[in-house]
Parts: sequence; structure tokens; C-alpha cells
Amino acid sequence: MTIRHRIGVLLAEPRTVSSLAHELRLTRPEVEDHVRHLIRSARATGRRVAVEPAKCRSCGYLFNEDKITKPGKCPDCRGTRLYEPLIRIDPAEDRDDA
Ligand SMILES: [Zn+2]
Repeated sequence: MTIRHRIGVLLAEPRTVSSLAHELRLTRPEVEDHVRHLIRSARATGRRVAVEPAKCRSCGYLFNEDKITKPGKCPDCRGTRLYEPLIRIDPAEDRDDA
């Protein structure tokens, strides 16, 4: 199973890029690249992608769903206590190679 495939399997449950990077011993940019590809192919094949956007713990500011990694700080209150985005992708139907 390729790394990208493993990430796709793990994303059947809501996950953060950081937790995937930690679990798979990859860097966050590597995971982000795989996740962006997985999101594109899921949307292209009509599977549902759910992103719970990053959120500021201090003021509740919601970041754009396009941002799938943890932002540095809140543009509204400058706070740095932020919730990381949670990503979930419907698994592919064919699991022959899983
Ligand atoms: Zn804020």
C-alpha cells in the first residue's frame, strides 16, 4: 500500500494533518501534498470531502476551508491558540488493493 493510499484509508475518520504526519512519520508539508491530491481525486469521483476549518480558541474566528494545515495565528485577535482543521474523505469504493 502506498503512503497516499494509507492516508486515504486513515481519512475515513476525521484527522488532522499533524496527527497523520506524526503517525506516518512524515513531514506536515508531505502529508498536506498527499491530502490535497486525495481531496481532488475524491471530488472528481463524487465522494464527499468534509473539512472542519481551523478555528481560533480565543475569539472563535473561522479560517477558510481551503486551509488544511494549522494556521500560525488568528488574523482577527492575533491569538495563537488555534484548533487545527479536521479533514474527512469518503473512502473509495474499490478496496481490492487495500
Ligand atoms: Zn482570534
